[in-house]
Amino acid sequence: MKVNLTPNPSPVSDADRTAKIAEGGFGKHYTDNMVIANWSEADGWSDATLQAYGPITLDPATAVFHYGQEIFEGMKAYTQPDGSISLFRPEANAARFARSAARLALPEMPIDFFVDTVKELVKQDRKWTPTQVGESLYIRPFMIATEVGLGVRPSNKAMYLLIATPASAYFNASKAVTVWISTEFVRAAPGGTGEAKCGGNYAASLVAQKQAATQGCDQVVWLDANERKWVEEMGGMNLYFIKGVGKEATVITPKLTGTLLPGITRDSILTVAKDLGYKVEETMLSIDDWREGVASGEITEIFACGTAAVITAVGAAKSVHGTWPTGNGEPGPITMEIRNHLLGIQHGTVADKHGWNVKVC
Ligand SMILES: *Cc1c(COP(=O)(O)O)cnc(C)c1O
Repeated sequence: MKVNLTPNPSPVSDADRTAKIAEGGFGKHYTDNMVIANWSEADGWSDATLQAYGPITLDPATAVFHYGQEIFEGMKAYTQPDGSISLFRPEANAARFARSAARLALPEMPIDFFVDTVKELVKQDRKWTPTQVGESLYIRPFMIATEVGLGVRPSNKAMYLLIATPASAYFNASKAVTVWISTEFVRAAPGGTGEAKCGGNYAASLVAQKQAATQGCDQVVWLDANERKWVEEMGGMNLYFIKGVGKEATVITPKLTGTLLPGITRDSILTVAKDLGYKVEETMLSIDDWREGVASGEITEIFACGTAAVITAVGAAKSVHGTWPTGNGEPGPITMEIRNHLLGIQHGTVADKHGWNVKVC
């Protein structure tokens, strides 16, 4: 499979694009082009086409509208000091996309084909990649079930799409987010779709996010479905806890039990923290451990991580069991050290020892 190039014949002007990039935000403006590839049970994958960004037309009886058979990815391209553009661990996104596809009974896309589509779009729309540290081109691959009909069955047709949007730095260095620990709603249950990156997981999470807002909190924290006791994730991000201070600190993240989304940022931080000389641990951490840890001072910092925001400091936590603070409402020193190191690798200002950056153009 290859990517046929029929790019937008009338891309936006340099002045318009510069203004749109400067507007900042997340997902407000999209690049000039997109990529589409179709799959059918009979013929497998077609070649992909890079074409002008724009609306697509689908029959109202298309499967995805009714039964939510959809998956997506989120990844970024970063401007390097020499002006070139690199993707961060794109094969990891491709591999996860294939695992998500398998769980949602969608066709797996070959890793190389997936990565090629991303490279072609970034190459074509490279001028949309912002240049400052913390800024990036956010890339959104997704796949929908496109068989027409209301019968409930795995779709015999699917469409893969790829779009991109310039992303400004949305890290707020002076403010930690507050979290509502939900004991009412769960994000994922054993045997469910928690490990897959599918839209349905997000649809089911929005009511809890709304509840968090009602409680005056920025984000919701998810507990395990069985005991409502073990800390899993925050919103659409993985969580990290720091115990202790200085180089003796231990960097801890909830272990992957099958109901957590295996974040690529989470995985990268396990390695980065080790490289920086910290002990790292993947373990189960309960809400009691959280409350007692911050009360005794053993837990010194908490942060959440994911591709979109990279790292966000977590401050006060609130639940039906009470409210407890962490730190002084600002990101802690180890949070900042890990964040700066990871961003440095992504932007090519810190040595990429693990070969994570893939140069595109
Ligand atoms: C995407 C996602 C993450 C973060 O994964 P990254 O690969 O680091 O972007 C964490 N939790 C959920 C639920 C997600 O959907």
